[in-house]
Amino acid sequence: MFIDYAKIFIKSGKGGDGHISFRRELYVPNGGPNGGDGGRGGNVVIHIDNNMNTLLEYKHKYKFIAENGEDGGNNRCHGKDGKDLILNVPNGTIIRETNSNKIIIDMTNKSDFIILKGGNGGIGNMHFATSKMQAPRYAKPGMPSQELYITLELKLLADVSLVGFPNVGKSSFISLVSNAKPEINNYHFTTLNPHLGVVNVYDKEFVIVDIPGLIEGASSGNGLGDKFLKHIERTKILLHIVDISEFEGRDSLNDLNIIFNELEKYNINLKNKYHIIALNKIDLIDDNLLNDRIKKIKNQYNNIEIFPISVSTNKGIKELVIKLSNIVNELKNNEIIYDNEIDLSQIFDKKEDDIIINKLNSDYYEIKGYKIDKMLGYTNIDTEKGLDFIQKFIKDNNILSQLKEKGLKDGDTINLSGYEFEYYD
Ligand code: GDP
Ligand code: MG
Repeated sequence: MFIDYAKIFIKSGKGGDGHISFRRELYVPNGGPNGGDGGRGGNVVIHIDNNMNTLLEYKHKYKFIAENGEDGGNNRCHGKDGKDLILNVPNGTIIRETNSNKIIIDMTNKSDFIILKGGNGGIGNMHFATSKMQAPRYAKPGMPSQELYITLELKLLADVSLVGFPNVGKSSFISLVSNAKPEINNYHFTTLNPHLGVVNVYDKEFVIVDIPGLIEGASSGNGLGDKFLKHIERTKILLHIVDISEFEGRDSLNDLNIIFNELEKYNINLKNKYHIIALNKIDLIDDNLLNDRIKKIKNQYNNIEIFPISVSTNKGIKELVIKLSNIVNELKNNEIIYDNEIDLSQIFDKKEDDIIINKLNSDYYEIKGYKIDKMLGYTNIDTEKGLDFIQKFIKDNNILSQLKEKGLKDGDTINLSGYEFEYYD
């Protein structure tokens, strides 16, 4: 089944906690600290899988959660890192933040993208022994995970889009020239899914997509077409297929006009596209009639190249395919790629801004929050430099003034996300 849209929930792994333990040896009453570090939480990573062309696997599954890091253990035992969670998507998938609907990244031709970072593991108490503090009873907690609602939207990457009314021979054409195997039927609306096919021309190849029938009103939601029109946006060449036999009382010129109108209404940037018109089913009419109808069409579409073809007899097919291949190669590296509209830092920094300050009793204060954990994550608390940095951080972030407002005085204890300090002005 072809699925081009999915909303999912993703979450990275939390970092494992650092461990608190002490060596136990015979005849050694106070063994040194030997609590090991926690493992890193797993990232959530987006990966392009070139063998995929649908988001089907996201239709039934909704939650995607990476593994947590393991806690550290006794005997300096390092917790295992959490496994990354890989989200495989087809090339051409756009990732949006669901709430704002803003684009985080267009994955087109991108290498692996880490969308959520796992929390770093906390370090164990084995790192905290100093000459003053020989039996530290604290270790760092693991860093928190990140979570996000995202929308996956597939805009197919194809070089050539087939557009035209139902029954004009689009599916027949793609199955003749490519490896795609769509259904072919002599009634309308046979094609309910876009079909991708690879066309080989000498040593080159290109990708062609059969867009299900557009009919009048498609851009305003009538018919099937509008659901698939977005898949035209990235293609460089529009191949308009027209039933020139005009069976069933069709009017080929009018058909062309309607399709152009529909595309315009959907805001397809038609001027950005290379257009080609293929007049199909020429086997059903004689040359005079064909020439009359070509003239009529040329009158209005004089700057678009016209190819009379018959999928049934193969007439004109080779010329058309070679033409398509040549243009595809001229337009290579002209991919339409969407800019990102929101940075991950904009999404997460908001949440990470909070610093919570509590007065727990008359001489004991607690400071915690994501921003504190993050700062401690890159600060080496064992060194004088690290301690200086923490003092500066506390001043710069207005924490000290808030503590003083709450009544902080010399000799009070401050618990900074698990580490205790005595305060002296
Ligand atoms: P689509 O709806 O545009 O995908 O059209 P299909 O490919 O399903 O074709 C509709 C009908 O037209 C089928 O019965 C085809 O066999 C027939 N058809 C397609 N191309 C030709 C052609 O060149 N000549 C004739 N006579 N019939 C054709
Ligand atoms: Mg079809």
